[in-house]
Amino acid sequence: MDEKPVTQADVAIAGGGLVGALTGLMLSQQRPDWRIVVCEPRPDGPPADKRIIALAAASAQRLKSLGALDGIDSTPIKHIHISDRGFAGATELHAEHENVEALGRVVSASELVNNLYLSCRQQPNLNWCSGVRLEQVTQQQEHIELSLDNGQPLLAKLLIGADGQNSLVREQLRVESDVYDYGQFGCIATLDLKQPLNGWAYERFTEAGPIALLPMQNSQASLVWSFTEAQREAAEQWSDAEFLRHCQQAFGYRAGLFSGVSKRVFYPLILRRAKRSVHHRSVIIGNASHALHPIAGQGFNLGLRDTEVLCESLATTGDPGSFRALQRYEQNRERDYQAIIKLTDGLVRGFSNRYLPTVVGRNSALMLLQHCAPLKSAFARLTMGMQP
Ligand SMILES: Cc1cc2nc3c(=O)[nH]c(=O)nc-3n(C[C@H](O)[C@H](O)[C@H](O)COP(=O)(O)OP(=O)(O)OC[C@H]3O[C@@H](n4cnc5c(N)ncnc54)[C@H](O)[C@@H]3O)c2cc1C
Repeated sequence: MDEKPVTQADVAIAGGGLVGALTGLMLSQQRPDWRIVVCEPRPDGPPADKRIIALAAASAQRLKSLGALDGIDSTPIKHIHISDRGFAGATELHAEHENVEALGRVVSASELVNNLYLSCRQQPNLNWCSGVRLEQVTQQQEHIELSLDNGQPLLAKLLIGADGQNSLVREQLRVESDVYDYGQFGCIATLDLKQPLNGWAYERFTEAGPIALLPMQNSQASLVWSFTEAQREAAEQWSDAEFLRHCQQAFGYRAGLFSGVSKRVFYPLILRRAKRSVHHRSVIIGNASHALHPIAGQGFNLGLRDTEVLCESLATTGDPGSFRALQRYEQNRERDYQAIIKLTDGLVRGFSNRYLPTVVGRNSALMLLQHCAPLKSAFARLTMGMQP
C-alpha cells in the first residue's frame, strides 16, 4: 500500500476567510521561525463574497499598518446617527468629538480578504493550500493530526479553527455553543442615492426591522436590513422598484432619495457563542467562536481582536500548542466578548418590539446617550474597538 507523505507544520489554520487570512499573515510575520499552513476550500482568486463591512477605527488602523487596505476603496465614517423611527429618541456620534479622523471605515470584504491572501503568499514561512478542506481532527499528546480532502495528512503543533460559523473544527472538538436564533434574515444590498451620505452611517430601528446604511463611494450606500421570516419571503418577490419603495418607506428620507438597488442577498441571523474557545493544542477564533447579528457591524472587528490577542499570547512561547498560552488567550478575550455581545444583542432585542415600556426605556436611553457626553464617548469608543 502507498504511504502518503506527511506534511508537518507548527501551526495549521483551517479557513482562509477574513480572520484566518489575517491570522496567517500576522503570525507568520511575528514568528518567522514557525512553519504555518492555511487550508482554504475556496480556489485561488478573490471570493465572491459581496459583503461590505464597517471596520471600527482601531481595526482600520491595524489593517492599514499591515498594508491590508492598500489599493482598495475605503470610505471613512465621520458620523453615526442612531434612531428609533417614529419616536423622539436619537443620538449622534461624531469623529471630531472623539478626536479621531474617522469613527470607522467601510470596505468590501472580498477586496480585503484578497489583499490579505496576496500578502500571505509573500510570506516565506507560510504555505497557503487553496481548494483544500479540513475533514477530520485527531488530538495526540504532542501534536494534532489533520485529515484533508486532498488525502495529504498534516501534523501540526497547534490547530487554529478559523473556519466560520459552521466550523468543522468546533464540531470535531465537540465544543458546544449557546445559540440564539433571532428568527431574522439580514438582507444586504447596495443602494444608489440621489445624494452622497458624506460620511454619515445610519442605524435606524423601524417597524419593518432594523436598517443600517453605510456610506460608500460614488453616492452609494451599503444596506443591511433585518427581516422576519415572513417579511423575507415577501421581500424576495419584490422587484427592484418595489424593494426601493418599501425601503424608502421604512427608512424615511433622512438619507435623501434612494434611486437604485443591487441584487439582494439574505443571511439567517443568529447569535452563537462557543462555550469555550481553546482545547488541547487547538483554538477557535472569529465566526467559528462567535457569530453576531450584523446590526452594529462588530463581527469581524471582534475576530480581528481574537487574532491580535492570540498573536500576543503566542509571541514568546516555544511550543505553539502550549496550553498555558492558549488559556491566557481565552482569559484575555472574555471581557471583550461579553461587552460586544451585550451591545449587539441589546440593540437587536431592545429595538425589536413595540411594547410600550420597552419603547419608553430605549428612547430614554438614546436621549440620555445624546445628552451625556462621557457616556456617549464611552459608547463611541466601544464601537470604535477602543477601551472605553
Ligand atoms: C450581512 C452581514 C454583514 C456584516 N457586516 C459586518 C460589519 O459591518 N463589520 C464587521 O466587523 N463584521 C460584519 N459582519 C461579520 C463578518 O462578516 C464576519 O464576522 C467575518 O466574515 C468572519 O470571518 P471568519 O474568517 O471568522 O469567517 P468566514 O468569513 O465565514 O470564513 C471562514 C472560512 O473558512 C473556510 N472553511 C469552511 N469550512 C472549512 C473547512 N472544513 N476547512 C477549511 N476551511 C474551511 C471558508 O471557506 C471560509 O473562507 C457581517 C456579517 C453579515 C452576515
